[in-house]
This record gives sequence, C-alpha cells and structure tokens, in this order.
Amino acid sequence: MWDNPLQTTAPDIADVRGGARITMPTSRTTAPVLIVGSGPAGLTAALYTARANLHPIVLEGTEAGGQLMLTTEVENYPGFPTGILGPELMGKLREQAERFGAEFVRADATKLDLAGPPFKAWVEDQEYTGKALIISTGAKAKMLGLTGERQYLGRGVSTCATCDGFFYRNHELAVVGGGDSALEEATFLTRFATKVTVVHRRDRLRASKVMQDRAFANPKIAFEWNSEVADVLGEQTVTGVRLRNVKDGTEKVLPVAGVFVAIGHTPNTELLGGQVELDQAGYVITPNPPSTATSVDGVFAAGDVVDHTYRHAVTAGGTGCSAAIYAERWLEAHFFNAGASTDNWD
Ligand code: NAP
Repeated sequence: MWDNPLQTTAPDIADVRGGARITMPTSRTTAPVLIVGSGPAGLTAALYTARANLHPIVLEGTEAGGQLMLTTEVENYPGFPTGILGPELMGKLREQAERFGAEFVRADATKLDLAGPPFKAWVEDQEYTGKALIISTGAKAKMLGLTGERQYLGRGVSTCATCDGFFYRNHELAVVGGGDSALEEATFLTRFATKVTVVHRRDRLRASKVMQDRAFANPKIAFEWNSEVADVLGEQTVTGVRLRNVKDGTEKVLPVAGVFVAIGHTPNTELLGGQVELDQAGYVITPNPPSTATSVDGVFAAGDVVDHTYRHAVTAGGTGCSAAIYAERWLEAHFFNAGASTDNWD
C-alpha cells in the first residue's frame, strides 16, 4: 500500500466510533463557513474560503480525502505533467488550504441541522456552527463487495475508465455492469485494450439503445451474459476474474489485466436527512446553475454529491471554488463584509 499523507498530518483525535471523548482539534467551533467533506470539492472550497478570510472549519471525515484516496497514479489532474498519486494530491490540497487558515476535524459529521443560519453540524456531542454551509460529501462508486476487489483496488481494479484506461494499453479488460456507465467505460477502454469483456448479470442490458448499438458494433467488445464476478484474481496486480453463470452455477476464469466496476454510484446524502432537495437518484439539486446554492438559503453544494456527469477531481474542484465564491457573496449580502478583516466573522 502507498503512504497516506493525510494520516500523518491529521490532528490527534480520539476514536469517536469507540465512544471515547473527542479531542477538539480546532481553535474554535464556529466559523463563517462550515464545510462537510474533504475531497477535491471540499478542499478547494476550504482553500478559497480561507483565502477570503472566512476561516473555514472542515469536517473532513474519518476517511478524509474522498475517492482519490483509493487511487494510485492520477495523470489527468492539470499541473502534474508526470502524474501524482491520489493520496499525495489530496495531501497537497489539504496543506494548501491549511496554509491559509482552514481548520480540519478528522471525524465524520454525525448530524446536521439546516434550520439556520447558523447551520449546525455535530461530531457525536461536539457541535460546530457555520453562517454558511458547503456540502461536499461526495459519492461512492458501488462495489461488488468481493475480497479480491478491495485487495486490488488501484492495482487492476478501477471505477474510472477515463482515469485509468491509459494504463492498460494492449491488455484485455473486463467491465462489470449493464448500464450506460458500463458501456461508456467499455467503449472508451477499447482505445487502449485489445479486448473488453462486459460482464452482466442478466441477458439484457439496462443501457440506452444508442449506447447498446455502439457497443454491439464495436469489434473489441465482447459480452458475458448472465454472469457475475465471483472473485477478482491476482498476484501483485489483477490477473483475471472468476465468473459464475447465474443460471447454471458453472464457473470459469476470464484472464484480464484490469476490472472496471461500473455498477453505479451512490451520493453520500444520508446525513442530510431530507433537509435539502435531492433528485430521484439522491443527488443534491442546485436548482439555478451555475450557482451552487441548494434549496436551503445559505447552504451550497459542490462535487460528486451534485455531479452525475463528470465525476472528476478537476470538475469537483471547480465546483468547490464556485461554492466558496457563492458562499462568500451570500455572507456579504446577509451578514457582513466578508473578507474585509480577519476579526469580523463573529
Ligand atoms: P445504472 O443505470 O443503475 O446501471 C447499473 C448497472 O449495474 C445495471 O446494469 C445493474 O444490473 C448493474 N448492477 C448493479 N448492481 C450490481 C451488482 N451488485 N452486481 C452486478 N451488477 C450490478 O447505473 P449507471 O450505468 O452508472 O447509470 C446511472 C445513470 O447515469 C443512468 O441514468 C444512466 O443513463 C446515466 N448515464 C448516462 C451516460 C450517458 O448518457 N453518456 C453515461 C453514464 C451514465 P441490472 O441491469 O441487472 O439492474
């Protein structure tokens, strides 16, 4: 495993899950802007609000850094011509925000109250308040739940073809799923791979007709119907998948160098408890784009918790910047001349 730079910079905080008392790692518990979530969106929002003298407090979660913490090489984030490890990139973003005064709490928010302002968030019994709130809790790729899948994540198992496809030039690959994401990933991967096998648990695809037609017409794409991945096989990296036919239970090994799991995403919105308007798939709605304002006045949202479409670090960072700017404008309009002084936020 790679080193996690966030582990070493995290403040000393007791194990909140174990019920122990929380060490309060921030110098205060109130801020003009409270940020929940610490992927590229949350950290960029922290950087911009910190530089606007809005003294953000970031509830970064126990698994700080978001989905990039599960990635190895990131080659498509601008500014790093030779690539950068996902955890290293997140460590640098955090450090950059911290340099301008952002404060971090290494714990999961356990409850939110959006009846404000001020808006309230709790980590167990510890209350934090912000006059404005930015939600950047991200989304998680749905996974199959296999031991090998977890073991080889970042070393042959991926959830992002546009991030990792490049590493599989002249290899055979598998894509799991039967929706638009799976076919889009499979089609994209044929730019690099010699063959891409779509493994789907039924005998009919869920994907749209146009995506199906495109995939069926692609000579590099094959299908394993009525099949599920029973395990991901590997040594240092993935060497294949064991497939099980769901109709007759027979198993076989498909030798591949990579497995792309494309069975959908789940936005991390349980914490919101119905206080913010969500779409049918559970993503936060920002009803007046390009504004990042949500249905609750003073609450903004950024990154994959909103974004169905792009789901990239750079786009999440972009909306994090927007959320910071909209929050700053909102604070100026409602409370004070944000950024005019370092002392005027109380
Ligand atoms: P999705 O439409 O929910 O499809 C998920 C696929 O994964 C389904 O085929 C499902 O099988 C399969 N699946 C789910 N759980 C599984 C499991 N545990 N084991 C094996 N297979 C499993 O998700 P999506 O493809 O990510 O698409 C999400 C939304 O984004 C859709 O509305 C889609 O149209 C849209 N989208 C659009 C585009 C585009 O237009 N370019 C691209 C990507 C996504 P079943 O079919 O058997 O349920």
